[in-house]
Amino acid sequence: MRWQGQRVDDVGEAALLPMKGLVRSVRAPEFEGVTFHEVAAKSALNKVPQNSNMPFKWTINPTRGCLHQCRYCFARKTHEYLDLDSGKDFDTQIVVKTNVVEVLRAEVSKPSWKREHVALGTNTDPYQRSEGRYGLMPGIIRALADSGTPFSILTKGPLLKRDLPLLVEAAKKVPVSVAVSLAIMDTELQQKVEPGTPDSRARLNLIRAITDAGLECNVMAMPILPWLTDSQDQLDRLHAALADAGAGWVTTGALHLRPGAREWFMQWLQAEYPKLVPKYRRLYRSSRGDFGSYADKDYKKWLGQQAAAARRRHGFLDRPPPAWRGRDSPEKASQTALSDRAEELPGLELSGQGGQPTLF
Ligand code: SF4
Repeated sequence: MRWQGQRVDDVGEAALLPMKGLVRSVRAPEFEGVTFHEVAAKSALNKVPQNSNMPFKWTINPTRGCLHQCRYCFARKTHEYLDLDSGKDFDTQIVVKTNVVEVLRAEVSKPSWKREHVALGTNTDPYQRSEGRYGLMPGIIRALADSGTPFSILTKGPLLKRDLPLLVEAAKKVPVSVAVSLAIMDTELQQKVEPGTPDSRARLNLIRAITDAGLECNVMAMPILPWLTDSQDQLDRLHAALADAGAGWVTTGALHLRPGAREWFMQWLQAEYPKLVPKYRRLYRSSRGDFGSYADKDYKKWLGQQAAAARRRHGFLDRPPPAWRGRDSPEKASQTALSDRAEELPGLELSGQGGQPTLF
């Protein structure tokens, strides 16, 4: 292992206690300020809680925490279950299930495994930069495809290009769907709000590479940020670029501000756009009068209409193609999950027993 000998001891012992299976914590020079906590996971497949409306039953998250560091990330809350905070710790204390491939292979080879659809990228990004070092995704893709398990991947990471040949091979064996998340074309704003992510040009190139490889690439244009990325000009610019890159379907949705993400995002908004703070407070006021998780329903309706008009102007279908709407097969479920059920994604990993994340 490249980082042998780079063990660090200055991570508080108390902070590590909830990390079951911790093998070691390491730092690496090319990841300044980041600590990787390598754990031996007992399971790779996470069962989605029964009370969830998600159209798939299983997820895999090879990591917890995300180097993409999106200010609005809904998964931030999950770090609190490790006694880490949902802000800086989420961005820099990355838990890696280094044995995920081995464990997954054992799980999908059990006679009881029903080969139900598995979603990747629902809680943290499987192609964040750490994947370049740990290289877990090729083994995960092979394990799923070899076992006849259909799967979907959602990412902001151009590193997925590395695995395109594997994904093309996997798609010959099982239904595979790939989606890219891209909602901000303005590089300056994107770097402020998603500081660890590749810019729009890199992600558009990724979309093009996926379609050139013969796979359909759908786009999650989420979150749209009120007063920052929701003008007609901005939606036009985004949809024009996505159409040009060969995107299949585009799903648009307004920013969610659930606890965990809300505090972090609002701190950022206060620092960067203080005049917007009162406007956001009004827009996200709940029926109880406190700060809610969702934008006002009239705003969401308005945004939906604006997005539909932008899709039409740029040649996208007026509604998702049939494969995106069905619920009766795993592959259709996958596509649906990335489109009209997108609003539910944030709750996916938090609705387990006692509100504990279902990651481990
Ligand atoms: S890429 Fe996804 S998981 Fe990672 S910080 Fe951004 S929103 Fe969260």
